[in-house]
Amino acid sequence: MTNIQQAEIRVVGVVQGIGFRPFIYAQAMKRGLLGYVLNTGNSAVQIVVEGEKKKIIEFIESIEIDKPYLAVIDSIQTLWRPPTEEFTDFQIRISKNEQKAGGSVIPADISVCTDCIDDMNNPQSRHYQYPMTCCAICGPRYTTVSDTPYDRERTTMVDFPLCEDCDSEYYNPINRRYNAQTICCPRCGPQFKLLGKDGSLIEVADPFVEVVKLLNEGAIVAIKGLGGIHLAVRATLDSQIQRLRELRKKPHKPLAIMSKDLDKVREYAFVDATAEQLLLSWRRPILVLNQLNPFPLAPSLAPGLDTIGVLLPYSGIYLRLFEDLHDLALVMTSANPSGLPTIIHASTFQERFMKMADYFLTHDRTIYQRCDDSVVIPIFDQGLIIRRSRGYTPEPIDTAEGGPPILSLGALEKNTGAIYHNRRIYLTQHIGDIDTVESLSYLQESLAHLQQLLRVSAFDAVACDLHPDFLTTKYGADLSKEHEIPLIQVQHHHAHLATLLADFKLPLNEEIVAICCDGAGYGPDNTIWGGEILTGNASQYIRSAFLEPHPMPGGDLAAKYPFRMLLGILSKNYSQEELNKLFQKESKTALPQGPTELTIALTQIFQDINTPLTSSTGRVLDSLAALLQVSYLRTYEGEPAIHFESYANKGTRQPNLRLQIPIEQQGKSQVLITRALLDQVLQNRTKFPGPDLALAAHHSLGQALATMAIGAAKSHGITKIGFSGGVGYNKILTRTIRLAIEKEGLEFLMHRNIPPGDAGTSAGQSLVARSKIQ
Ligand SMILES: [Zn+2]
Ligand SMILES: [Zn+2]
Ligand SMILES: [Zn+2]
Repeated sequence: MTNIQQAEIRVVGVVQGIGFRPFIYAQAMKRGLLGYVLNTGNSAVQIVVEGEKKKIIEFIESIEIDKPYLAVIDSIQTLWRPPTEEFTDFQIRISKNEQKAGGSVIPADISVCTDCIDDMNNPQSRHYQYPMTCCAICGPRYTTVSDTPYDRERTTMVDFPLCEDCDSEYYNPINRRYNAQTICCPRCGPQFKLLGKDGSLIEVADPFVEVVKLLNEGAIVAIKGLGGIHLAVRATLDSQIQRLRELRKKPHKPLAIMSKDLDKVREYAFVDATAEQLLLSWRRPILVLNQLNPFPLAPSLAPGLDTIGVLLPYSGIYLRLFEDLHDLALVMTSANPSGLPTIIHASTFQERFMKMADYFLTHDRTIYQRCDDSVVIPIFDQGLIIRRSRGYTPEPIDTAEGGPPILSLGALEKNTGAIYHNRRIYLTQHIGDIDTVESLSYLQESLAHLQQLLRVSAFDAVACDLHPDFLTTKYGADLSKEHEIPLIQVQHHHAHLATLLADFKLPLNEEIVAICCDGAGYGPDNTIWGGEILTGNASQYIRSAFLEPHPMPGGDLAAKYPFRMLLGILSKNYSQEELNKLFQKESKTALPQGPTELTIALTQIFQDINTPLTSSTGRVLDSLAALLQVSYLRTYEGEPAIHFESYANKGTRQPNLRLQIPIEQQGKSQVLITRALLDQVLQNRTKFPGPDLALAAHHSLGQALATMAIGAAKSHGITKIGFSGGVGYNKILTRTIRLAIEKEGLEFLMHRNIPPGDAGTSAGQSLVARSKIQ
């Protein structure tokens, strides 16, 4: 006798917008079960099945075992009951709820899946070699969506009506392209064409075959992708890469490269298990890996660094470039200037990109939202996000508390904005530095788009940085006036502390100690902060400890030319005459104007002319880089410090080399006397190899920061110590700090889902604003 039962099953997790319902449908059909499946509210699926109990149990097991690869199941709850015999088939039902839901249902762009790659490689498939091949579990999402609900008519695919074949797949619940909004084929989808330098059409049977041929010959090709335009050139051609650098006008920045697969990557970089997992993940970020030595690719890819940014193909567009490529990798660098939205008009395209490339491989689908490649650095067994963009945006950060919507504008460098809505923070894609009207309007547009997707009509407050001169601060003040909402100005490092609270889903009133180390943040005392140990929560903080403030001769010039900063730091231990004599010869290479500039900088320091004070950790690392003759110029954020870390990686630990940094009590705060560190390195410059000194300096700085943070934690009865700010990308410092903290039995918080750098501060500002207006 068969045992017929009915079961109501609730599956909670990441189960929407990734082909979960067709999967459930197929599993039910396979076992002859009747009933339906339905998306309910946020992140849950409801299934009702009727049939043989044994089959239902098998069905439930299959949900866990065979689920689509993007599905994450948090829980499966089953309620058994007697059969009702009301069903005659199994259906995918569309809920009313689903029609209305905004925001939460828009996934990030998803890397092309293995089934679609198989289609592309199969000469019998109608998707054979078609670069835009995708399905319900893969393909572009955020970059194509103009509005919610997420349906084809509200994506840039609206320009490409489905052909008969695609249409039948779209409406067939057991097809993996069922209800997939961006599907298309060579018959109905976007078409590619190849343009010459003058913008003229190059008539070829298959533009991709031609592009590979041109790349093999050494050409620089601009390639329009999903969320932007890349410049590609073979990664072993040093002279062409130099040419590309000059054309991009970013002569020093490291360039990211793309390889066909992991085996190729292993020929030039270290790939451990964590790196492998991140490289292969559906988010497909650029991963910062350590170079192999010798490094078989062009040295000009990452001058002076021991790392290389690598990514794997995430769409058929890139897969096709490697079909017959005679190289290990292609440079794949963004052609869009930072802080500018994607240029949509063909004429502007031409004007801008044809200056940088020999050819342009383009297609006729609009990019609705520009989304640059994300950048992640592997550390311990996880990734630390440097740039959170394609593959992440607009995935929200779940926080511990909710409340009315808040708009956050971030700070200045590598910026993002954020909307805090119902317990979740939605960060914009990477915008870049907000230092022009254009970059500010890109931020405004991206926030307006998010606001539209989330159906947020008004904000309760607007949050921004404390710095009075930031464009984001001025814009925040305008918004506050216009909408009559409070403007919450958040001290930069307090925002970093609160970003840790957001990243670890901690209550807004939970007190933690945050080591906040970066380049610069405006302090309430009108000096520049950047080496802070803050104790507090989202509503308040105290400055428990900080790095000794030093004069920056020439202000920003001391950040650009780290040798100036070095003079500032040493000025408390040496007289003007001593420094002049000591560095006379070195200044010829270390400063652009040589000894003349040395005299000027020293005069500025000793007569206190244009020498703002800073407690920045970045400036200390920069000065060490200058002192050990590693780097004399900053052309991009963090450059000397990044070179300094690469240099230290060549060092070995010397037991007889001990650098001690004294900690002094000043009022209620502790102060780290960093001039002592610089002085000791100076004294030892001729006694030890440079890399060993660099390594020792890292260790002593990390140890000192940890000691001060542990002291603050213990005196307040706090058990959690976090590390935030751009210096958080420094692996040697992070390891040293973590080790010291965990040795004390305290919990170390390292960012997981939000960048430690300034790209994460909009998230922290949101939390601070929420706690201030509550
Ligand atoms: Zn697919
Ligand atoms: Zn089609
Ligand atoms: Zn910062």
